[in-house]
Amino acid sequence: MKSLFRENEARRLARKFPSYPEELISRLYTSRLIGADPGLVLHGGGNTSVKLKVRNIVGEGQDVLFVKGSGVDLATIEPDGFVGLELIGLRKLRRLEYLQDEEMENQLLIHKISAQSPDPSVEALLHAFLPHRYVDHTHADAILILTNQKRANDFVREALGSRVGIVPYLPSGFLLARGVADFYKKNPEVEAIVVLRHGIFTFGESARLSYETMIRYVGKAETYIKNKIKGRPLASLPSKPVRIKNVASSLGRMCQVIRGVCAHRDRDGTLRRFYAEIRDGDEMKRASLVREAKEICRSGVLTPDHIIWTKNRAVYIEDIPEDDALLRQTVEKSVNEFKVSYEKYFKSQVAEKKVKREPLDPYPRIFLVKGVGLIALGFTRKAAQIAADLAEHAIQAKLVAMTLGKYSPISDSHMFDMEYWPLQQKKLGRTSPALLQGQIAVITGGGGAIGLGIADRLLAAGAVVVLSDIDESRMEKVHSLLAKKYGARQLERVVFDVTDDTSVEKGFIEISRRLGGIDILVPNAGIAHVAKIENLAPETLGKVLDVNLKGTFNVIKASVPIFRRQGTGGNIVVISSKNVFDPGAAFGAYSASKAGAHQIAKVAALELAELGVRVNMINPDAVFGDEQISSKLWDLIGPERMKSRGLDPEGLREYYRQRSLLKVSVTAEHVGNAVVFFASEQTPTTGATLPIDGGIPAAFPR
Ligand code: ZN
Repeated sequence: MKSLFRENEARRLARKFPSYPEELISRLYTSRLIGADPGLVLHGGGNTSVKLKVRNIVGEGQDVLFVKGSGVDLATIEPDGFVGLELIGLRKLRRLEYLQDEEMENQLLIHKISAQSPDPSVEALLHAFLPHRYVDHTHADAILILTNQKRANDFVREALGSRVGIVPYLPSGFLLARGVADFYKKNPEVEAIVVLRHGIFTFGESARLSYETMIRYVGKAETYIKNKIKGRPLASLPSKPVRIKNVASSLGRMCQVIRGVCAHRDRDGTLRRFYAEIRDGDEMKRASLVREAKEICRSGVLTPDHIIWTKNRAVYIEDIPEDDALLRQTVEKSVNEFKVSYEKYFKSQVAEKKVKREPLDPYPRIFLVKGVGLIALGFTRKAAQIAADLAEHAIQAKLVAMTLGKYSPISDSHMFDMEYWPLQQKKLGRTSPALLQGQIAVITGGGGAIGLGIADRLLAAGAVVVLSDIDESRMEKVHSLLAKKYGARQLERVVFDVTDDTSVEKGFIEISRRLGGIDILVPNAGIAHVAKIENLAPETLGKVLDVNLKGTFNVIKASVPIFRRQGTGGNIVVISSKNVFDPGAAFGAYSASKAGAHQIAKVAALELAELGVRVNMINPDAVFGDEQISSKLWDLIGPERMKSRGLDPEGLREYYRQRSLLKVSVTAEHVGNAVVFFASEQTPTTGATLPIDGGIPAAFPR
């Protein structure tokens, strides 16, 4: 590990933020350097600070601690990501023997110098109590490999030398802050302090010194470990490699079943589903095969900071049966074992500590699947990805730790304190979930105007959306519009051809591998052709039937085994057409194909009710696109319709507006709202048709 500090880069940043004190910007610079190295911190882990004298509003000099805001990512921190806290008042708290968590939180908040700044890091008091101008703190992998050992003291001393202080594990918050500060007071010669099974603190009078001390000691730890295990293989591979047939589809099935088994109702009765995140690269595949794999899953987390994302232990699954029922049994057995042990841990900790706590859900977040790799779960996609990143690092570090000595994490008692620490739980966000959070929606024909409108409304309702289309460039455009509005993390795009069942199946496997399964399916892909029966070529009719009828059939059919494996119900919302009830002349191919698809959807409603899957239809009429995305259908039939009625484009829109009872234009968002209505299951409805047409009497469903 090398210092990446560059004087000219530090100066460039200072010029970029001229209104902030230079010391804060050098703090910002080295904080970003730390944040950019996943070997030091991951996802909002670690924290840094600087102490400054600033003028308050009445012109008096005031000592202020600027410390990273809670949950702020060091890699991307901005000047306002540091919270200013009045230092003198905070330091007085050190006189106390003990400070309750709630009161500590209160003290941190009432010492903020700006009401608008974020909550300060939960380790802010520690930064306040240390005398140094700059303090850096990380949960570096190499340090944790040394500290999570039976012989932690010996390893740390041998690796890092005598100028490093070693403090035994202390619960985060006031006790850790006071423990570390007391240690430093008695041992002012130390350059850094390692807190066993937690991480390392460095400090100094300049940002550069504090940062480079961090790099030097983490570098020392890395070199020591490398030399110590030189030539020794990391854990032991079994003699026989595991062969898994159809890895992609096995992994897809596994994710669907895991998602289904772990979905559960929360206290309010809301069904909570997880997103899945797979890591099946060589390293995780290998880790799933070593003899220590079970031990890796059974042993606790690397550092208490991880527990809110990964829980303390992981589930090891040794087999992916080809039979779905057997697969479900296998996963259920493992998840149940995890649940029982989690509930036991919760009960015994609560009893032992004589505290009242609401239990968190007892479901695992990390699975290691033999021969395949890692599957992580999260209530949001971000949470699943954070859990996967943390677990990947933890598994790698545990492998090294187990090769070096005897891996020894913190006790269940300490783990419980951290897991149920209100300040830690706060990082997960306490707001009630969005209407469709946890759900995965797939929209075919995702490159068109209606696809855009549906995706927009589903995203606004909290679902993660998969756009699919055969036309990649049209889909790209829709994707980039939505990514700008909702963030790329909430979106995926998969190319498949709805007319080809093999292509659909492959597409659905890919979706399961990226997200875990499917909850909402919106068959929306469609084409049209204008010709009177007299002039309609049979091949053209076939083409329209292929996309609109067979395409709808193919995607519904391919979704059934997924819904069955998940066992959590689901919704199919077929984008049908006003033409089903009120066909138009010279529009035979389209009207017949849509009527066929409509009928398939009704039959699906009959057949899938036993799986809890609802199938409903939406009949829009005259949905034009906008300047951004045009409607493929209207691109095709618009010119002809205009010609036959002697209208220009605006005239055509007006014609359709005036034709409806309500005299309104129908938009793609209206169609999207209807999809959200059905998908959110606000009424017990299946097999129904909802017209979105402004009111066309001839098209009233009957
Ligand atoms: Zn920490």
